[in-house]
Amino acid sequence: MPMPSAVDLAAHPLTTWQGALGLPDFTRIGDGDFSGVFDAALAAHEAEIEAISGNTETPTIENTLAALELGGEALDHVSSIFWCRAGAHTNEAIQALERDISPKMSRHFSAISMNERLFARIDDLYQRRDALKLDAQTLRVLEKTWKNFVRSGARLDAEGKKRLASINEELSSLGTNFGQNLLADERDWALFLDEADLAGLPEFLKSAMAEAAEMRGQKGRYAVTLSRSIYEPFSTFSERRDLREIAFRAFTMRGQNGGATDNATVVRDMLRLRAEKAKLLGYASYAALKLDDTMAKTPEAVHALLDPVWEKAVEKAASDQIELQRLAAEAGSNEEFAAWDWRFYQEKLRAEKFAFDEAELKPYLQLDRIIDACFDVATKLFGISFEEKQGIATWHPDARVFVVRNADGSERGLFLADYFARPSKRSGAWMSALKSGYKLGDGSRPVIYNIMNFAKPPEGEAALLSVDEAKTLFHEFGHALHGMLTEVTWPSVAGTSVSRDFVELPSQLYEHWLTVPAVLEKHALHVTTGKPMPKALVDKMLAARTFGAGFATVEFTASALVDMAYHARPDAPNEPLRFEAETLEKLNMPDTLAMRHRTPHFGHIFAGDGYSAGYYSYMWSEVLDADAFAAFEETGDPFNPALAERLRKNIYAAGGSKDPEELYTAFRGKMPSPEAMMIKRGLV
Ligand SMILES: [Zn+2]
Repeated sequence: MPMPSAVDLAAHPLTTWQGALGLPDFTRIGDGDFSGVFDAALAAHEAEIEAISGNTETPTIENTLAALELGGEALDHVSSIFWCRAGAHTNEAIQALERDISPKMSRHFSAISMNERLFARIDDLYQRRDALKLDAQTLRVLEKTWKNFVRSGARLDAEGKKRLASINEELSSLGTNFGQNLLADERDWALFLDEADLAGLPEFLKSAMAEAAEMRGQKGRYAVTLSRSIYEPFSTFSERRDLREIAFRAFTMRGQNGGATDNATVVRDMLRLRAEKAKLLGYASYAALKLDDTMAKTPEAVHALLDPVWEKAVEKAASDQIELQRLAAEAGSNEEFAAWDWRFYQEKLRAEKFAFDEAELKPYLQLDRIIDACFDVATKLFGISFEEKQGIATWHPDARVFVVRNADGSERGLFLADYFARPSKRSGAWMSALKSGYKLGDGSRPVIYNIMNFAKPPEGEAALLSVDEAKTLFHEFGHALHGMLTEVTWPSVAGTSVSRDFVELPSQLYEHWLTVPAVLEKHALHVTTGKPMPKALVDKMLAARTFGAGFATVEFTASALVDMAYHARPDAPNEPLRFEAETLEKLNMPDTLAMRHRTPHFGHIFAGDGYSAGYYSYMWSEVLDADAFAAFEETGDPFNPALAERLRKNIYAAGGSKDPEELYTAFRGKMPSPEAMMIKRGLV
C-alpha cells in the first residue's frame, strides 16, 4: 500500500474544480502540485477498486459495473489537466513528470485489469447477463468491459500477467520518449533567412516566419520551422529550390538525426514488444489484436479498402507528375523532378488551371469568422449555441472559454479552444475532454477543448487561415461536438469513446459544411473590405477540391500501408527503417513522393498507441463521411432538419452506446459504399 499522503483531495484545486464556471481554478495550480496529487489520487482509486473487488455481496450492476465506471474521479480530474498541459503548454518540469507518471499510470491500470477478484465479479455478471434482463446499453457496457479484461490478460497465468504488465509499462515509456524526441527535433531545427531569400512567399507566411524567428531570438529575420503551418506553405510558395530541398530534408528526417533524439531504436523496441504482446494474448499479430474491436475487424478488411485506393492513387499521381514536369520545364528548370518540387509546381498548376492561388483565398478566411461559422452550423443542425466568457483563467492566456447552451437556453457544457502555435505546444491539432458528459450516478457535464497550431498574427492583425487550416478547425470542432452532444448513460461509451475507425466520422463529416455556399457567403468575408468571397472564387475553390488528389492520397495511403505492414506481421523487423524502405519498394512507391508520416516521426502510431494498426481509420471514416454527406445532398438541403435530427441522435449523441454498423445504418438506412469517397477524392 502506498504511504498515506499529505494531499487533501477533497480540497485541492486540481481535484475539486471550484473555479469560475466549474472549471479548475488554474490560478491556484502550480507545476509542483501534480506529483503529490497524482500519488494521492492513485491511492484513492486503488482503495475504491479494493472496496469493489473485496465486496462480499453478490455482484450487481450497481455494486460492481457502475462502481467501477464511477471510480477514480480525482484521478480523472488531475489526469485530464495534466495531459492538457503536457500537450498544449509543457515545460521541462511537466516533461520530467510525464516520464514519471506515464509508467505509474500504466502500472495502475494494468493492475486493475489484472485484478482477479474484480474480474471474477465482472465474469459472474457476464455469465448471468441474459438472466439480468439488462437494457441494451448496459448489456453492451458489460460485454465490452468483460472483453477488455480478457484482452488485457485477465485469463493469463501469473507469469503471463507479470510479463504483460512489464510490456505495457515499457511501451508507455517508449511512446513518451518517441514524442519527446520528435518535439525536440521540431523545436531545435530552424532555417533562418533574410529578406533576400523570400522570393515567392506570400505576406501571411512572411509574417509567420518573422514571428517564429523573433520567438527564437532572431528578431528581424525569418525562420522556416518544422511546424506544418510554416513548412507546408514554404514548400508550396518558395521560388528557391535549394531552400525547399533543405526544408524537405529536415522535415522528412525528423526523429532520424542520430544522437539522443533519434527514434530508430525506440521504434524497433516498440514493434518487438507489440508483437510479443499480441502473441501472449493469443492473436496472430498486433494488428489482429488492435482491430478486434473496430468496425473493420480484420487486417484483410483494411487491405480490401486500401489496396484498390492505392492503385488508383499511384496512377493518378503518375499522370499528375507528367503535367507538373511540363510546367517545370516551361519554367526553365532542367533539374530532375524531385519530392521538394511537388507542392511548388502543384500550386503553379492549380493557379494555371483554376486561376487563383491559395494566397488569394486567405484574406477571406479569418480565424474569428471561421470559428463563428463552426458555431453557426452547429446551431443550424443541432440547435445548440455558444457564448464566450472573458477573463476565465485556463492553462494559457490564449485559450478561450465558451458556454454551450441547448435550444431552450439551459447549459449543456463548456467548450475551450486554444488556437495559436507556441514552442510549449506540441505540433498538430486535437480535441480532448477535461470532463466527459454522461448520466450515470450524479451525471457529468462535458468540458471539451480544441487545440490548434495556427501561426499567431502580429499584435493588432487578424489571424488568417489557409483552406486546409479552416478545414482542420471544422474537423476538430466536429470531434468537440461528438463530446458535447453526447446523451449516453455510461462514461465508458460516452462522447468520442467509440471504435477508432468510427471516431473520425463526426469530425470528417463536419468538414463538409465549411464549403456549403450559404456558410461561405455569410462567414468568408474579406479581412479589409468585409466583402464576401466572390462567387467566381468560391466556384474555383470548389472545383479545385479534388485537385492534387494523387499526391494527397499517395502520401496518406503509403503511411497507412506501412503502419499495417509493421503490425500485421507476427514478429517485428530488426531494422524498421530498412523494412519501411522495402515495404515502399514492394508498393512501387513513386520516388518523387514521400510518406505523409515517415516512421521516425509517425506520432500517430508510435507516440502512444492511439493509431497503431489504425492509421487507415481516417480513410475508413472518409468512406463513411462522404456517404453520410451525400445523404444531405440527396435531399437538396445541407441542413435538412429531419436528417440532422437522425444524425444527432444516432451519431453525435450516441457515443459508443451501440455497434457502429447499427448506428450508421440507423442514420443512413443502409451501410456506406466506398464509391462516394473515391468520387469525392477525384480518383474515379
Ligand atoms: Zn480527427
